Order: sequence, then C-alpha cells, then structure tokens
Amino acid sequence: MDAGEREHRRDRASGVVDELGRRGVVAVAITWVDHSGITRVKSVPVARLPWAAAEGLGSAEVFDAFLLDDSIVAGRHAGGPDGDLRLHPDLDRLVVLAGQPGWAWAPADRHAQTGERHPQDERGFARVMTERLAGRGFRVRAGFEVEWALGEQTDDFRPVTTAPAYGHARQVELSDYSAELLSALAEQRVDVLQFHPEYAPGQFELSTAPEEPVAAADTAVLVRETVRAVSARHGMRVSFSPKVVAGGVGNGGHLHTSLSRDGRPLLSGGSGRFGLAPEAEAFYAGVLRRLPALCAIGAPSVASYLRLVPSRWSGPFAAWGLENREAAMRLVRGRSVEVKCFDLTANPYLLLGAVLAAGEAGLAEGGGLPEPVVGNPADHPDAPRLPTSLGEAVAAFEADAALTAAMGREFAATVADVRRGEIALFEGVDEDEVARRTRWRH
Ligand code: GLU
Ligand code: MG
Repeated sequence: MDAGEREHRRDRASGVVDELGRRGVVAVAITWVDHSGITRVKSVPVARLPWAAAEGLGSAEVFDAFLLDDSIVAGRHAGGPDGDLRLHPDLDRLVVLAGQPGWAWAPADRHAQTGERHPQDERGFARVMTERLAGRGFRVRAGFEVEWALGEQTDDFRPVTTAPAYGHARQVELSDYSAELLSALAEQRVDVLQFHPEYAPGQFELSTAPEEPVAAADTAVLVRETVRAVSARHGMRVSFSPKVVAGGVGNGGHLHTSLSRDGRPLLSGGSGRFGLAPEAEAFYAGVLRRLPALCAIGAPSVASYLRLVPSRWSGPFAAWGLENREAAMRLVRGRSVEVKCFDLTANPYLLLGAVLAAGEAGLAEGGGLPEPVVGNPADHPDAPRLPTSLGEAVAAFEADAALTAAMGREFAATVADVRRGEIALFEGVDEDEVARRTRWRH
C-alpha cells in the first residue's frame, strides 16, 4: 500500500464520518477471523476511522497462533513475541450494525508493516484466488448456510424451546426474536434467501444469496455476529458449534458455489451429466478429490469430527450426488454445488480461498467427476468416508501440493500447527468434554 492509496483511504473514510455520527455510531468494530475460526476484533471511535483506514491498526502476529481456547501454540512461523501487522478496515463493506446500536463494522485486510498483503491474511487469500480464476474468465459465486442453536444463559446447553423441528410453533415462540433478526439483516443489506427452525433442539438456519467469494465470507461473519447480537438482546446464548451436545445433530456451515466462464453458466446447458459443462466437472472433481484435505480447513475443529458421522445430514462421505444429502457434495441441478461437510468453526475466507484453489487444480488436472452416488452412501460397501479425525484431515492437507502451494509455505504450515495444537488440547478428552469446551467459542 503506497502513500497515494493511504491518502485515498483517508479521504474516503473522512467522507463517511459525519454520516456515521448522524446515524448514532460511536465506534467501528474491525474484525478478522483467525486460523481457529474465531472472529477477533479491534475497534476505533468513529473520529479515528480515517486514520485507521489509511494507516491500519497495529496488531500482533501472534494471533495467527491462537487456538479456540485462547491459548497460543508455538508454531513454526507464528506464536513468538515478535512481529506486527496492520489491520485495514475495508470501507467497501462498512456497515452500520442494526443489532448493536452505536456500532458499525468493517472486515479487516491484514497487511505487513511494509504495506503488502500479510502472507497469512485469509481474506487476501480468498481475493487472490478469485482474481487468479478471473484471469482465465472463471467466476465463482458463493453463499453459506448458517445454522445455530439457541440456549439459555448457562454453560451446559439448555435449548430455549422444545417446539418441533421445522415447526412453525418454534418460530411463533421466537417471533419477536426472528423478526428483529431478519429486520437487522435487511437493514445491513444482507440478502437472506430463507430462514427456518432446523432439526436439533433450539436450532435455526438461514441462507444468503450468492455473492463474490470475499463478499460471501464477509456476509457469513456479519450474519453470525448479527445472530449473536440479537440473541444476546433477547437473553439467549448462541452456539455455532459443529456439536452442541455430543450425540445430537450439529450445526453445519454448508457452502454453495456456482461457476461461470466469460458470462456463460457452467452448471447448466452443458454436455456432461445433469447439464454440467466439462469445465464445471473438472473444477468440482478437483474439489471432490481434495475433500479430505479441505476438511482440515472446512471442518477444522476436533468437534467437527463428532459431527461428521453418518445419518446426521453432515455429508460424511467423499462422494457427490444429485440432490443427495448424505454425500459431501450435492449438486442442486442447474443452480449450485453444495459442500455439506463444512461447519462454522471454519474461517470462511480461508475456506473459500482453499475451495477455489482446489477447483483451479481440478481445471489443470482435467477430467470429469466420478460416478455420482445414488441413495445412502452408507449402503455402498466401497463408499469412501471423509476423515474421521482432525489428525487424518491435517495429514491429507499437508500432502496436498496444490492447496499448500496456493496458500504459501508459511501460511499452510501455521494452519497445520494450529490444528495440531487443538488436537493436543483435546488429547484423551471424551466427547462430552470436547462438545462442552467448543460449544460457546465460535
Ligand atoms: N445440521 C446438519 C449439519 O450438521 C444439516 C441439516 C441440513 O440442512 O441438511 O450439517
Ligand atoms: Mg440445514
């Protein structure tokens, strides 16, 4: 970032300070998501926004080594006392928070002190991968499904409602809450596709319209923080954990993507199965092949593997199918490809960057998708399971040259270090305790 860019950012931010003041904003929360999937924050009073936009807020590099319990792993490239970086709020995504009066929010890009993108900046990684594909005419649009469970203000999980799964009764009981949430999201210009009570006790879900990858990840963060804020205002605690209680149905963070090239949709009207174009088959074959490795990014917690079991609709099989809800990859005919095995302990920026890198590798490798699975994959004796532990996923990730090269050595090694740190944290710990210690963290 050069002096001209700094001045430009300062001017732009100066131009919105008065408007923010008129709308009652006192401070701007500037967030990034760390490698363990936790959204971290530094804030500035509104008058300081021009300075923050131009100079960035100083921040330690040690955050790249944080684990979900706030302990710090001694990694190969992060975790020591040295190093600083700058958090630059992205003014294009500045939003007045409707669920948190007095606050605005902007996601941060993390720059090195010397001005260029920090090698471990997840948001920048998603942007770089988007641009790399755009250079060849490919455009990905993405959206997350966000699931959460509402509990009372206790450490154990006590659902705030016992009304039925998908039951209108549940929504009626939480009518004011639901309306306030949807209204806050609308005010924040989040385009909600649908909202509904989900299967597990106290669980809800909403999904958002397709966007550019970085915007989709921003939206995933904004949705979660809005759900958290509105839930708190209604005296409830919210869990986005993959396993709120051991044995139950968990929270997923399914990722929908679609692909086009030079303005031409590639999920419909093609010569392949179900209308897929050959480039779409190659792209998604690259993703499918790498799902075990991608689990280290998209199912990144020890608790993720309590969720990733058959018959919980979490897509624990490394297979694809047409509208098949037990396969990890579900083609929604003509519309999108959903990857179901991911959850909300994932860093959405890192996950999108990695999925794009996997698709790009698939394009380079060529070839199409294998046979789709029909019916319950568990009934097919040779149906491959995804990793059943975080350790297995990390090993697959480290062995994947395309993913680790796209991320860069330092970035990939630190993500692996963080995963190993969390594996060590839960060594010998039973499922109830894993669920308990993960439940309220993300
Ligand atoms: N809650 C399920 C999961 O953990 C997903 C249910 C569904 O939307 O199909 O992924
Ligand atoms: Mg769902």
